Amino acid sequence: MVTNLKSRILHLNLNLAIQGVASSVWYHVSMVRGIVPRQPAKSGRHEGVRTRRGAKALRDRPTRHNLEFPQPKPKKAAAKKGQPRGYNPTSPERVGEMLTRLDKTYPDVTCALRHHDAWELLVATILSAQSTDVNVNKVTPILFKKYPTVKDFAALKPEALQPDIYSTGFFRNKAKSVVGAAQKIVSDFGGKVPEKMEDLLTLPGVARKTANVVLGTWFKQNEGVVVDTHVHRISRRLELTKQNDPKKIEQDLMKVIPRERWTLFSHQVIWHGRKLCMARSPRCVECPLENICHAADKTWSTVESHKGAKA
Ligand code: SF4
Repeated sequence: MVTNLKSRILHLNLNLAIQGVASSVWYHVSMVRGIVPRQPAKSGRHEGVRTRRGAKALRDRPTRHNLEFPQPKPKKAAAKKGQPRGYNPTSPERVGEMLTRLDKTYPDVTCALRHHDAWELLVATILSAQSTDVNVNKVTPILFKKYPTVKDFAALKPEALQPDIYSTGFFRNKAKSVVGAAQKIVSDFGGKVPEKMEDLLTLPGVARKTANVVLGTWFKQNEGVVVDTHVHRISRRLELTKQNDPKKIEQDLMKVIPRERWTLFSHQVIWHGRKLCMARSPRCVECPLENICHAADKTWSTVESHKGAKA
């Protein structure tokens, strides 16, 4: 009985082995020689996975159809954020139009600080920092009556000057600057205010803004653009600059405003800032520049505003 069972199991194993060999032979015979079945790449980068670059290459490949019917290229994004395509706020046409309108509105404007010579203008400009021209004009007539010449100022101690200029604010620093400038003018420049930018910049309390006021207004030299708080604000609103630093703003303005206009432009914009384009609530409805101004903080507008155009 046991012997019979063993012989039957042996027979079954033999059958299975014969079937396995037969199927393997059939598989190799049925495959065409040279063709290997595709296996997915282990890296995952196999054919059919399209990258963006691959899709572009596929779209632009030089097929007959593509050559006959070239596809339009996708549009590029706007050149500058917050500005429409093709708009150039510093184009000569736009700046020229701006200057023409400023000329009509403010034809003969000049510096509002009262003065009779370069020294008085220099002192008044130093005192006008963080103050108003109206306030400085109240102080200077009394001051120049008390100390008529540069030598009179040079002989003072800063403390002696402080009460006279107290109402203009920052009186300690301003007194130091005025007396220091007077002493330097007497010792190095023969008692006369120098006419060169590099010399003016050696005087205590004198930076480019003050030097530009004196050179442009008294000596009629266009050496730069006066960038005070009004010019700073308005040139940003009008998109003539995106800078915040007065030195960089001046450089931008010097590139777009013709040189012979630098001083006049400064005075016109300063007057515009006082009369209409104030820091808070500018009077846009009355402004001659309204339809070419895209400032984001306008109070009234007939044109679209630009995000980047703000004070
Ligand atoms: S339209 Fe308004 S914001 Fe623009 S310059 Fe004139 S007053 Fe200033």
